Amino acid sequence: MARKVLIAGAGPVGLTLTLLLHENGIDVELYESVTELKPLGVGINLLPHSVRVLHQLGLEAALDDIAIRTSNLQYYNKFGQLIWSEPRGLAAGYQFPQYSIHRGYFQQMLQQTVQQRLGSDCIKTAHKLVGWSDSGDGITARFLQGDGNLTEVAGSCLIAADGINSSARRILYPDEGDPIYGGRVLWRGTSLAKPFLDGRTMFMAGHQDCKFVAYPIGEQADGAQLINWIAELTVTDLKSEMQNWNREVSTDKFGAAFRTWRFDWLDIPALIDQCNHVYEFPLSDRDPLPKWSFGNMTLIGDAAHPMYPIGSNGASQGILDAENLVAELTRSQPVNEAFMSYESVRRPATAKIVLLNRQNGPEQVMQLAEERAPDGFSDIENVIPRVELEEIAARYKQTAGFTVEAVNR
Ligand SMILES: Cc1cc2nc3c(=O)[nH]c(=O)nc-3n(C[C@H](O)[C@H](O)[C@H](O)COP(=O)(O)OP(=O)(O)OC[C@H]3O[C@@H](n4cnc5c(N)ncnc54)[C@H](O)[C@@H]3O)c2cc1C
Repeated sequence: MARKVLIAGAGPVGLTLTLLLHENGIDVELYESVTELKPLGVGINLLPHSVRVLHQLGLEAALDDIAIRTSNLQYYNKFGQLIWSEPRGLAAGYQFPQYSIHRGYFQQMLQQTVQQRLGSDCIKTAHKLVGWSDSGDGITARFLQGDGNLTEVAGSCLIAADGINSSARRILYPDEGDPIYGGRVLWRGTSLAKPFLDGRTMFMAGHQDCKFVAYPIGEQADGAQLINWIAELTVTDLKSEMQNWNREVSTDKFGAAFRTWRFDWLDIPALIDQCNHVYEFPLSDRDPLPKWSFGNMTLIGDAAHPMYPIGSNGASQGILDAENLVAELTRSQPVNEAFMSYESVRRPATAKIVLLNRQNGPEQVMQLAEERAPDGFSDIENVIPRVELEEIAARYKQTAGFTVEAVNR
C-alpha cells in the first residue's frame, strides 16, 4: 500500500526516521518549526545499537569525520580516584563503535544527507505542528508557518518527533504540564584542550549532588581536542525554568563547587576556564505515558520518552524507535496496527530506562563510593566489590538493550 508519512520535528530522530523511510521506499515529508536548523547543543553519545542503524544507512564515514570513537567509560570519585572502568564500542566487543559527537554537527550531517537523498526542499522549515484531524483512512496535519499563516497537509499518517516540549504530546495530554524537574542543574560547555587519558575516554567524577562529566567530541589539526563537559549540582530551590537548551550563563553559577578538582590526569577548573559558552539546563524528564499512538498518529524520540541524560541513551533510544517503526510500516498492515505494534515494543522498553535513569542508572556506583568512602579509598575493592560493580553495569546494559550479544545479533 502506498503511504505518505508526515513527520513533525527535524531533530536527530525525525531526520533518521526520514532516511529510514526513504531507504525503504516510503514517501515522507518532514516539517520543522524553526526557520533554520543551526548546530545547537553540545555533546551527546551514540551507543552501538543505534550506531548499527546509522552505519546501515551508509553514514559510517560521515560519522567518523565529525565524531570520536569512544574507547572507555570511567567513573571516579571527587578526588579523581578510579571506581569503575569499562571498554566501550569496538573495544568492548561490539561490532559497531560508540560515538561521542556534537549534537548540532550530528543533526547537520543528517540534514545534509536527507537533502542529498530526498532533494534539497524536502525539509519544510518554519512549519510548526499545531494540530491534526484523523479521518480513519488518513490524516490532515495543520502547521503554523513562519509568516503566521496556517497550512494543511494530507498524508496517511503523522509521526511527532518534536522533542521534550512536544506540541503533539501537549495536544494529546493537555493536563500533563511542564517536564518534571529532577532537582539538579546541568551546566554544559565545550573547551579546546589537550587530550586527557587515552584521548577517547568518557569519564564522570563525583556523586549525585556534585558531578563532572567530560569526553572529547572532536579533534583539531594541531592535536587539541574539543572537550564536551557537564558540571552538575543539586539545586533544590530552582525557580520554574523553561526547558531551553540554549540558555547561556556564566561559570560563576557553578565553578566554585569544582575549584579543588585538580586531578593528576586532568585539571577541571582549567578546563572550565577554557570554555567560551556555558548553557544551563535543568535535569528533567517526563513520566512514561500510557499510550503513544492514536489512530494514524504516534509519538517518537524525546516527544514520546524524554529521559535524564544518564547512560547516554536519549538520542540512541529515539533511533531505535525509528528502526522499529519503519520495520512495522513496511509490513502489509494498516497504519494504526503498525503503530500499535511499534508501541507495544518500544513504549515498555523506554519506560524502563526513564525510571532506571531516575535512580542514576549505571552512575549509581559513584553515589555508592561517596556514601561508603566520602574521604576517598586506597582500594576500591574494599568499598564496592568488583562483583557488585559488574552487576550494576550489566543490569543497565540489559535494560537499555545494549548487551554485546543483543547488539551483535
Ligand atoms: C536545540 C537543542 C539542543 C540540544 N542539545 C542537547 C545537548 O547538548 N545534549 C543532549 O544530551 N541533548 C541535547 N538535546 C536533546 C537531544 O537532541 C535529544 O535528547 C535526542 O537527540 C532526541 O532527539 P529528538 O529528535 O527526539 O528531539 P530534539 O532533538 O529535541 O528535536 C526536536 C525537533 O523538533 C522541532 N520541533 C519542536 N516543536 C515542533 C513542532 N511543533 N512542529 C515541528 N517541529 C517542532 C525542534 O525544533 C527540534 O528540531 C537538544 C535538543 C534541542 C532541541
